[in-house]
Amino acid sequence: MARRREQGKAVLCLGIESTAHTFGASVASSRGEILSDIREVYRPPLGSGIHPREAAQHHSKIAPKVVCEALRAAGVRPQDLDAVAYSKGPGLGPVLRVGATVARAIAANFSKPLVPIHHAIAHIEIGLLTTGLKDPLVVLVSGGHTTVAFFSKGKWRVFGETEDITLGNLLDAFGREAGIPHPAGPNIEELASKGRRLIELPYIVKGNDVSYSGLLTAAIKRISDSRLPDLCYSLQEVAFSMMVEVSERAIAQLEHNELLLTGGVSANRRLREMFAKMMADRGGESRAVDPKYSGDCGAQIAWTGALAFSSGVSEPLGDSEVLPRWRFDEVEIPWRRG
Ligand code: ATP
Repeated sequence: MARRREQGKAVLCLGIESTAHTFGASVASSRGEILSDIREVYRPPLGSGIHPREAAQHHSKIAPKVVCEALRAAGVRPQDLDAVAYSKGPGLGPVLRVGATVARAIAANFSKPLVPIHHAIAHIEIGLLTTGLKDPLVVLVSGGHTTVAFFSKGKWRVFGETEDITLGNLLDAFGREAGIPHPAGPNIEELASKGRRLIELPYIVKGNDVSYSGLLTAAIKRISDSRLPDLCYSLQEVAFSMMVEVSERAIAQLEHNELLLTGGVSANRRLREMFAKMMADRGGESRAVDPKYSGDCGAQIAWTGALAFSSGVSEPLGDSEVLPRWRFDEVEIPWRRG
């Protein structure tokens, strides 16, 4: 790395994503170029959620093909890489171990440093890269996270979060009950666009936190006596308004005027519109991650790996165990310290 820096060359990092449904690989440079992004998604049978062991088997099978394609598409040989980054957590244990094993094998075989990446930090970094925002309030909404965070003194700090299930879980769990294929979020968005009537559902905000489990139970109870498009419309309006409320409170208290929306659920056009309106009304701006990278992908890990490695982050192969319950407010971010 030191030689590359002296030569003014960008650091090249291979990133391996394997926390849940997606196995992804990508090569990114420390100049912010995403040179490739290849992924394969495990899809559970209709009506069931992700089965960790089956997802792990799926990922093990397709991993060599995905990694080789990512290198080929980037025009990079393994020996040209400066580092190999992987999702260390949080996520499903058996699935995380597939990504870590693949990354360890490549790092060991080609004598490359191994860079551990927190998956949520990677959602934030790819959001910052693709929006150009420098110091926004972050709203991270996905299957694993529902958090409002801001950066201070070397770490991301949580302002508010879900007290129970995430926004992505709410949509996917409702989808399973309503016979909507997984992942339900995009299909609910489509159905909601045809909804006309607002059905009353519980709106639960507690201080700076949201709670979605009561909303899920109530929405499921209404499946039998409601038009599905109306119910999807109502579910989105209520769940998204709760996130907007706690985010607006953070914006007001912390005096931010920029907001970044990132994570899988941020692909939702209605959610983007609601945040854009709230921020515009306050004289600020909301931008969302490029939808190409809103869901889990290798690019988020490769880019964050390039940033982390460029500021000295790596770990010995022997320490590379996965952390399924790793919280992102525990992670030091040396590349943002200054
Ligand atoms: P995490 O990244 O926190 O580990 P995850 O692995 O579930 O969670 P993502 O790929 O970031 O990750 O997000 C998937 C979630 O995004 C699913 O719940 C899916 O239903 C939801 N989602 C995807 N597209 C949309 C959309 N257009 N509208 C609403 N939700 C969406």
